[in-house]
Amino acid sequence: MVIILKQNADKNKIRQLEERLLQQNIKVRPTEGDKQTILGLIGDTTVVDIDTLLSLDIVENVKRIQEPYKAANRKFHPHDTVVRINDTVSVGGGSFTIIAGPCSVESVPQITGIAESVKKSGANILRGGAFKPRTSPYAFQGMRGEGLKLLSEAKKETGLPIISEIMEINQLPLFSDVDIIQVGARNMQNFELLKELGHQDKPILLKRGLANTIDELLMSAEYIMSGGNNNVILCERGIRTFETATRNTLDVSCIPVLKQLTHLPIIIDPSHATGKAALVPPMAYAATAAGADGIMVEVHNDPPHALCDGAQSITPETFDSLAKSLIELRKYAYSYNQ
Ligand code: PEP
Ligand code: MN
Repeated sequence: MVIILKQNADKNKIRQLEERLLQQNIKVRPTEGDKQTILGLIGDTTVVDIDTLLSLDIVENVKRIQEPYKAANRKFHPHDTVVRINDTVSVGGGSFTIIAGPCSVESVPQITGIAESVKKSGANILRGGAFKPRTSPYAFQGMRGEGLKLLSEAKKETGLPIISEIMEINQLPLFSDVDIIQVGARNMQNFELLKELGHQDKPILLKRGLANTIDELLMSAEYIMSGGNNNVILCERGIRTFETATRNTLDVSCIPVLKQLTHLPIIIDPSHATGKAALVPPMAYAATAAGADGIMVEVHNDPPHALCDGAQSITPETFDSLAKSLIELRKYAYSYNQ
């Protein structure tokens, strides 16, 4: 349920209303716009009498929200959420964010070399996996804690904020220098992990599961937000369909759908979506044209010898021309998606 307050509603009366709702075990999340304030109510709102609310002189309107996700719902919070990373980078709300780097951290020269080159090309954030969720237990599992240290080194060298994937709660202490914690597709519904991340104050990039609906993605975001962490970035990385020509199928239409349903930023990962380096630029363009808030791409200095996901990794040279073209394309895409 949301309560839309009248313009310039009396602050004391708003506070009294919030206290009354709290006594009914309803949590209130206010969203202050330029002119209007919206109170989002979380809890069992069946106990709330709409007519009584409507009779208050500070209330303009009251609406029930049908969708099961509340905090992530655009009806709760009409303006785009802007996630601030380290006070240097913004995600959402009109910014276009480019996240780039290798699938996995492999060595000091590999990660710092890639970091320096993607930074020069226009990347805003460096990615690098340290804990890798591999289909085969015999495949490279990542450099784990050591990999995070090397990623931190690259951050120090370049000043780029860093993102890396967490696989379980007890890895959390190792992520103290990581700026965005990534929840991978396979963990999108690891609810205990999501609950714990809800108590952190770090931004979370939540990837859509291989076989999850948009509603399920938003419910997972809700798990994080209901714990108090509103800094959630959504990521579409392709879903499983009957098609086998690509690793997954990029659901480009999820971008305008999510833009309607939620205020959270949406990043597209064309690398895991396609599985093929040659398909990464066209899908990155498609995502940008459709209004994505940014992209995340895998870049490797030596793709044939990458320890993970070489086939879908683009070279620093390809990334350089891709990033420049995306920045140009975005200038047009943003205005016609408003
Ligand atoms: C990744 O980004 O390295 C990754 C493993 O992605 P996903 O969870 O989308 O498969
Ligand atoms: Mn990968």
